[in-house]
Amino acid sequence: MIQILPNELIDRIAAGEVVERPAAVVKELVENALDAGSTRIEVHLETGGKRLIKVTDNGQGIDLDDLKIVFLRHSTSKISRLEDLEHIASLGFRGEALASIGAVSVTRLTSRLGDAAEGYATENHGGRVSAPKPTGCPPGTTVEVRNLFYNVPPRLKFLKTDATELSHCVACVTRFALAYPETAISLFHNAKTVFKTHARASELDRIAGFFGEEVSGKLIPVEGEELGITFKGYLGKPELGRRDLRKSYLFLNGRYIKDRAVHAALRRAYREVMPEKLQPVYFLNLIMPPDWVDVNVHPTKIEVRFLDGARVFSAVYKTARTALAGGERAHVAAVPSSDYSFPSQPMQPLVREQQGLAEPTLFAGEREVPSSKPFVQVHKTYAVFETDEGMAIVDQHALHERILYEKLRGEYETGGIQLQQLLVPVTVDLEASLAAKIEEICVDMTHVGLRAEPFGPSTVKISAVPAVLRRADPHGLAREVVDRLGSGGKGEEAYQSLLHRMACRAAVKAGDRLGVEELKSLLVAAEKIEFSGRCPHGRPTTVAFTRAELEELFKRRGF
Ligand code: ADP
Ligand code: MG
Repeated sequence: MIQILPNELIDRIAAGEVVERPAAVVKELVENALDAGSTRIEVHLETGGKRLIKVTDNGQGIDLDDLKIVFLRHSTSKISRLEDLEHIASLGFRGEALASIGAVSVTRLTSRLGDAAEGYATENHGGRVSAPKPTGCPPGTTVEVRNLFYNVPPRLKFLKTDATELSHCVACVTRFALAYPETAISLFHNAKTVFKTHARASELDRIAGFFGEEVSGKLIPVEGEELGITFKGYLGKPELGRRDLRKSYLFLNGRYIKDRAVHAALRRAYREVMPEKLQPVYFLNLIMPPDWVDVNVHPTKIEVRFLDGARVFSAVYKTARTALAGGERAHVAAVPSSDYSFPSQPMQPLVREQQGLAEPTLFAGEREVPSSKPFVQVHKTYAVFETDEGMAIVDQHALHERILYEKLRGEYETGGIQLQQLLVPVTVDLEASLAAKIEEICVDMTHVGLRAEPFGPSTVKISAVPAVLRRADPHGLAREVVDRLGSGGKGEEAYQSLLHRMACRAAVKAGDRLGVEELKSLLVAAEKIEFSGRCPHGRPTTVAFTRAELEELFKRRGF
């Protein structure tokens, strides 16, 4: 038999959607306090929020007429018309949090308008609401939620330990504290302070407060507009990369959200500077017109739907890439070229390799400024040189690989890789299993700058290579690419990874002795590319010491 459920039961079922655990209550109440324009918010919890969640604010308050209906489902002051759903500028709008919370707890709401002589209190006892009564209280609103789920035993059973529930509440309030640095937000548990923040702080102060200087000192500021979206916040430098997402914060119009596409766009930008297995640290605020996004797709509003997802993806990717490129230049540009000079007594003789290298520089056409910073090559792996600020050590392979990759990718993305005809074509043999795909393989190879054509049933002939890689052994390059193509992977990602591999293959190796000219051309080239501070796998290319750091190391100061 079908029957309409009683209201009380409807409310309790609906409460399950919004209120899944104490942290969800905390979230709804703090959102309400922020929507009310509060500058000071206190959150008091007992036993992980199970016994008590109390949120006090100094916001605009609620008048008597509104208090009479505040616990009704779909009672809200934030929207009134269908069209409003497309322009939501407040955190709340569904008008169901207080109704839901009240249905599954004993909730008391006390509120006083700023200019009123007294306030009023109203209670919702598991769905039974009492009329507002006058009471003395400061301006603003206090909501006390006691004994959550006392009347929903199955829910109660699913609550975790106090410590676990508390940790969810802390995570929730932390997000608000980061997104609203102007608001003083404090959190207490069992009468002890968990954290207190000051009003009118900057986002950076807040980050330092929560995560320490270790994080706040290694951030790249992001500020600007891209495709109509305003960006504010910070990206963590690659060395902050970690294995979890606990320091990845995304806010959209002041709302903490999780969004796969935005995260993917950030990961894509970070791939230039950080190993892929690590997750980036970020505190990023996106601000866009409310009608570009639907926040009404998830009961707790943590997931949203963008009207134009592709636009958001490219705006985020572009912004992040630019910011990271700025923060990740090698320090080689620090010294004006007139300061270049050769050491009179090099630690290791800087002889130019006569045989082996066909050209005196690593990059044709970049022989410049016939002077040099004092530098030496050590262990045939690193170049050590002076900078304006101190000294730097370059990993020759990592830097060269990055330079080649950037050049290659630049050409690839802007109309095609420049080719260098080989005087003598080279051939590579395909494994039997690949022979059937020989035509396809030749197309892919040509696409990444190795002009290839079938030469018999299972042999490929390569007649040109990317001009940027002309120093490399063409057979080795072709072998590398064929092996990669054989092991699968298709599309743009696969092509980019081929460019990586080719750059790596063609770069000078640790153990290659480089002469003055080679080293110099490496440093000159580094000044002209993005991301010169990191190799394409995310390892640093350069380690720099300031003079102050050197003085510290040698105890020249304070002794
Ligand atoms: P919503 O936030 O979606 O509107 P809620 O159930 O959370 O729905 O709150 C209902 C209404 O109660 C709000 O629209 C607002 O007018 C009022 N309200 C709730 N909490 C506060 C508060 N702390 N300060 C001022 N008004 C509040
Ligand atoms: Mg609300």
